[in-house]
Order: sequence, then C-alpha cells, then structure tokens
Amino acid sequence: MLTKTRLFTPGPTLLPEQIRLAMARDMIHHRTAAFAALMREVQAGLRLLFDSEDVVLPLASSGTGAMAAAACALFSPGEKVLVVEGGKFGERWTQICRAHGLLPVVLPVPWGEAVSPAAVAGALDQDPGISGVLIQHAETSTGVQHPVEAVAAVTRSRPVLLVVDGVSAVSITPCPMTRWGLDCLLTGSQKGLMLPPGLALIALSPRAWARAETLPARNFYFNLCAERKYCLGGQSAFTPPVSLIVGLAESLRLFGEAGLATVYRKQWALTALVRGGVKALGLDLFVKEHFAWGVTSILLPEGISSGPLLARAAERYGVIMAAGQDAFKERMVRIGHMGWLDYADLLAALHALAGSFRFCGGYCGGRNYLEQALDAYWTALDEGPPLPV
Ligand SMILES: *Cc1c(COP(=O)(O)O)cnc(C)c1O
Repeated sequence: MLTKTRLFTPGPTLLPEQIRLAMARDMIHHRTAAFAALMREVQAGLRLLFDSEDVVLPLASSGTGAMAAAACALFSPGEKVLVVEGGKFGERWTQICRAHGLLPVVLPVPWGEAVSPAAVAGALDQDPGISGVLIQHAETSTGVQHPVEAVAAVTRSRPVLLVVDGVSAVSITPCPMTRWGLDCLLTGSQKGLMLPPGLALIALSPRAWARAETLPARNFYFNLCAERKYCLGGQSAFTPPVSLIVGLAESLRLFGEAGLATVYRKQWALTALVRGGVKALGLDLFVKEHFAWGVTSILLPEGISSGPLLARAAERYGVIMAAGQDAFKERMVRIGHMGWLDYADLLAALHALAGSFRFCGGYCGGRNYLEQALDAYWTALDEGPPLPV
C-alpha cells in the first residue's frame, strides 16, 4: 500500500498498460491470415528498429537462445572466433562457443572498460584463421557500451562476421545493422522492448545469410535458414509465442508513435539523470567513459555491501535494483533504466539508493542530489546524445 513496487533491474523491466492489455487478448492461431498480417506488421517495425535488410526472426527463447542460434548458424565446429570478454555476457559467448565446438580466442577486457577497436584489428591480423567477432553492444554486467560501430569498421572490410549481442542495447541505444555493417544483431524481449521474457529476435546481414546457407544445419529447433523461409510467408516453423508477438506489435507501435530518435534521446537523458544524481551523492560510477544507456553501475565503498542495501531499498522504498556479478556481487549496485521508465521513476530510485546507503552506515553527500539529477536530465534531453540517431 505504501509504495508501488518498481523494477529498476537490467531486465526484466516494467510493462506499459497498452502492452499488458494487448497481451491479455484471446489466442489467435499461428497458421491463419490474421497471424500472417500480425507478422507482416511486426516485420516492418523490426526492420526499422534493427535497420536490417532482411527479416528479423522471432524465436521462442530468452536472449541466450538467440546467442546460441547465431553461434551455431554462422560457424562450424573447429572454427576460430574472437570473443570480446569484458564481463559476464562476454564470458557467455565463450561458453556458448565451446558448447558448440567452436574455438573461441578470448580478447580480455578489464571489467568497466570498453574494448579498443585497434585491439580487435590486432587480434585479427595476428590470426587470419579467425572468421568471426562476438561482442556485446552493452555489457550489462558492468554497464559498459562497447564501440560497436568502430569494431564494425574493422570487420566489414575483412572476411570476418561481426555478431552483436544487443540484448540490452536494441531499442535503448542506436545500433543500425546496415549503416554500421553488423552481420548479426540479436535481442531479447524483457529489456528495452518493454515485454515479458520469452521472446528473442535475431537478424543477419546478406553476407551472414550467404554464410549460413552454405553450412549444414546443426540445430533442429534453432534452424535460422528454415525459420527465414517460414518468416517470409508470415509464419514460423513451430508454434510461436503468439501473445509475446502481439505485445511486440504494440511495443513497435509505441516506438513508431514516439519516433526512434525520441526513444534513444530519452534513454540518453535517463542515463544522464542517474549519473548526475550518483555523482552529486559522491558515489563512485564504475564506468567512466563508455557507459551503456540502459544500466548504470555504482561501486560501493569499503564496508558497505549490496545485499543489505538492496534489501532495504526493496522493503522501505519498493525499489528493486540489482547487485553486481561475480567478484563485484557485493561491491556493486546496478540501476537498470531500460524501456518503460521516466524521470520521475528514477528520482525514486536515486532517493532509495541514498536512503538505503545511509541506512547501511554509508556517508553520502549533498541534499540537493535530486535537483542536480534533474538538471542533468533536462540538459541531456535538450542537447541530445553525442551521435546522430
Ligand atoms: C539480459 C542479457 C542477455 C540474455 O539473457 P537471457 O536471460 O537469456 O534473456 C544476453 N546478453 C546481455 C548483454 C543481456 O543483458
């Protein structure tokens, strides 16, 4: 009664009422004209969102399913791929590659830092046997955004496919496939798309499709070439998650009404708000430079651990944030700000952060941190992000 429960986790995220209502409608059958019409509408919206020249395939799985599907569809056992490993999700690429018999060559990046495109070029020059680069656009475990456009400038002139995990980036920060020259872009439903978990989306470039068509299918369920054929006919190979696709049509409609540039501008401004507030509190932002637009990571000082802080924030303020991962589990708090959130929600998150931090015995500064956060928000919203979107 006292508070609303608000999710500030880096997925799943809150759902707008329009999407919840759309998903509550009765079932439509997936081998009907009604479903084909739905798929046509969704494809048009997705092609814009991904900036894809070809279909964007829906898969019934979480985001990781699409990562596995990509590794399997584009590379053969024994083939070498370069994995940018700067956090938990980079490590997931390595694990997926190993599980499917690929030979991952790891390019380690310290947690909290972005990969250097020159280092990618260097690794590729050193080993001409490498035929792919696997990367996250936003590494959600650390809050870093890798410079994917610059990495694509390295791969697009070589016979090397660039596969981008955009689960916490698509619809949060621009990642135009065709304009940048990405070969595969994938995402999941429960982050920027404002949907429940369970739907993954994946698109391939023309040269990636050409590659996929030459390889024998090694996966019966996640067979992208087969899915593509069905998708072109407004269907899917197996029973699709129909309600999630209905919800997706609604979320794409919302993006269409607002315009993608406005969606990105808002995400940028929300990031400025959180970073401004955290700085005004005197707390330590984990990522200094290449920060993601959907999650902000805060390094806690000695003596304060995330567990009790997050518990207090949830109980007292109804604010659900996330801890760090692995070595940073206790030392980090992550505030997710993807999708269906606005500036007022994030003021509650900052207030809960400050109050819970003090409750746990921490000292943090100025009482006007909310005003400073708001100043940062409106300035960022008016100025817009530093790249054309
Ligand atoms: C959330 C996330 C995933 C996918 O996780 P699932 O639990 O499989 O949906 C993958 N990569 C990144 C960068 C993510 O943030």
